[in-house]
Amino acid sequence: MAEKNVCRACGSDQLGAFSGKTLSIDGQSSVSGLAGLQCAVCGEVFLDAKSQDKYIEACDAAVLAEREREQQELIRIRKKLKLTQHQAAQLTGGGP
Ligand SMILES: [Zn+2]
Repeated sequence: MAEKNVCRACGSDQLGAFSGKTLSIDGQSSVSGLAGLQCAVCGEVFLDAKSQDKYIEACDAAVLAEREREQQELIRIRKKLKLTQHQAAQLTGGGP
């Protein structure tokens, strides 16, 4: 792979290896112990395969947690508006 050490974001060859890095997912949670390459020019991060899996897993967990939170919020709002689940689904375009 001749292009292995070329930044896929900006094309520079200023990639430096890092390890033990902590990346934020959504401003609330973060993943630590990540390794990979970071571009010194544009700052883009390229995680190695293992770190990427770890990061994606944490992102999925964060998305699920956020979905759960939104769902609870919708239930709270629906009850506040005294809507049935069916009425609420019609309003939001989801559900049966
Ligand atoms: Zn770059």
